[in-house]
Amino acid sequence: TILVTGATGQLGHLVIDSLLARGVEPSAIRAGARDVARAADLADRGVQVVTLDYDAPETVAAAVDGVDRVLLISSSEVGKRAVQHQAVIDAARAAGVAKLVYTSASKATTSDLVLAPEHKATEEAIAASGIPAVILRNNWYTENYVADVARAKETGVIAASVGEGRVASASRIDYAEAAAVALTEDGHIGRVYELGGDVAWSFDELAAAASELTGREVRYTALTTAEHAVALEAAGLDAGTVGFVTALDANIRDGALAETDGTLSRLLGRPTTPLDEGLRAAL
Ligand code: NDP
Repeated sequence: TILVTGATGQLGHLVIDSLLARGVEPSAIRAGARDVARAADLADRGVQVVTLDYDAPETVAAAVDGVDRVLLISSSEVGKRAVQHQAVIDAARAAGVAKLVYTSASKATTSDLVLAPEHKATEEAIAASGIPAVILRNNWYTENYVADVARAKETGVIAASVGEGRVASASRIDYAEAAAVALTEDGHIGRVYELGGDVAWSFDELAAAASELTGREVRYTALTTAEHAVALEAAGLDAGTVGFVTALDANIRDGALAETDGTLSRLLGRPTTPLDEGLRAAL
């Protein structure tokens, strides 16, 4: 049996779709959800649905019981993640699982990416646990830019403080299929895969894709970090979010998400979804 945490999330759903497409029996998939009502569609398809709340370790232990493979999809609760993930690692070790797959972030152990420290802590905890593991260091989802494209339809502008930075994004479905490959194929244990799109695109290229998709001329406006912060504040974002968004853009400017070595497309046996196609599918 394969346990998928965060199964009610967008990536979790796509992973379960991919597992089913690869011939895994629905009854051999266990969907972990903190709110099982949100997994009713999965139960309807014959998937086991169990309560799994990272903040309630007894639910994690029960969810892992009798499972041989676990996909730990990183939690969406930034700031609480290292502790939440530790609960899954502890339960997986106690249950003696044969393979733990974790969705990390690009170069998690060495990156300046503001999101990296929780992933680094989790990778280190997995290593310390001794559980046979596969680390999937996912670059950005193309879907992260859908809101920018939708806004550009109204404004004609994509404003960011990434300078000439590039992003090797791929679609969620690409990362989901890679997780299904790591879970279902023998091997991969001990590997740390840097996963990203085949193309590292610039924000001029993002604007060009937005022009094509919206049918109006869209330009990339390069802001300084200070200008970007002022614009985000004016748009009503709180100080914490402004700091987070501008820090991520600075990471992109510094190249934290620009590397692409084809590992993801090799795992999938096909090219990753191109930027314009990924945006079109998500819009
Ligand atoms: P979603 O927000 O759609 O899914 C997050 C999942 O985590 C949901 O199932 C959510 O449950 C679950 N979750 C949150 N807190 C808890 C908890 N306390 N106990 C149990 N489950 C919990 O994100 P995605 O599927 O799009 O992405 C998956 C993960 O990838 C994210 O959680 C985040 O760590 C990371 N991410 C990466 C991005 C990238 O560009 N690489 C972009 C965005 C996220 P519920 O449905 O109940 O809310």
